[in-house]
Amino acid sequence: MAQYPYRSLNEYYRTLFGGKTAKISLDGGFTCPNRDGTIAHGGCIFCSAGGSGDFAEDAALSIAQQIARGKAQTKEKWPAACYIAYFQAFTNTYAPVTVLRAKFEEALAQQDIVGISIATRPDCLGEDVLALLQELSLKTKLWVELGLQTSNENTAGFIRRGYPNSVFLDAAANLHRLHIPIVAHVILGLPGETAEDMLHTIAFINRLPIHGIKLQLMHVLAGTELAELYKTGAYVPLEHDAYLELLCRCISLLRKDIVIYRLTGDGDKSLLLAPFWSLHKREVLNSLHKLLKDKHISQGISLN
Ligand code: SF4
Repeated sequence: MAQYPYRSLNEYYRTLFGGKTAKISLDGGFTCPNRDGTIAHGGCIFCSAGGSGDFAEDAALSIAQQIARGKAQTKEKWPAACYIAYFQAFTNTYAPVTVLRAKFEEALAQQDIVGISIATRPDCLGEDVLALLQELSLKTKLWVELGLQTSNENTAGFIRRGYPNSVFLDAAANLHRLHIPIVAHVILGLPGETAEDMLHTIAFINRLPIHGIKLQLMHVLAGTELAELYKTGAYVPLEHDAYLELLCRCISLLRKDIVIYRLTGDGDKSLLLAPFWSLHKREVLNSLHKLLKDKHISQGISLN
């Protein structure tokens, strides 16, 4: 029997690999076209200097060294039977294919690495990159994590996402054609969004060949444009109870086969300005599980 009333990542990994699986967050030394001027300067308004990879290992180290360090850190917390190399920081398909291939193959060559997860933008998946991903997917377990954040084009413009929804749709279709599982990254609590906007994003995801979803609470990090909006009161982060209510609605409306990779998200403590309640991740998850139980909510229960 499932531990939670939704398809959790732990259960998915356990079914796939038969044991506890840990992800090692890596920094491949890439940048992002939304920051280097190719699309825009400055990036998405919430993006910190670490390019959404504030927990990734040190880019000054080789991929092999980062993985060794990540394994040692993981072992201090709990034993994992195997590991996934998670290319997390910035845009991990934004480099010549020869560079990408070398980084990904270095990761795969390390002991106990059973797969690769690559976080990227949907506008950085040209034919050459897709060919490389297809090649990798034939050798190992591969997931591609695509930033969507919202399906509301107005919000996407405001946060400076840098591409229209049609680009996401094309990328999802291309990856699906190659049988590469897609994890969509969605942010709850973006500036100006109502609950209905966020539920529309869930409905948008449901219509696509999406394997997994990350539901990430909007964090305000120091040094970002969002931080400036927060300081003037123009942006108000979600409160604890409102967030939990929202998660319940999202889960009840999410297609049953979609694996939920994340329900909270971590903000780097040294950069986090708000909301501080999110630092108590265990409490947030426990409260969510209690609320789901009290309300008799399970994944997809509100879909007919
Ligand atoms: S796409 Fe990612 S790395 Fe690039 S600016 Fe946006 S959040 Fe930052």
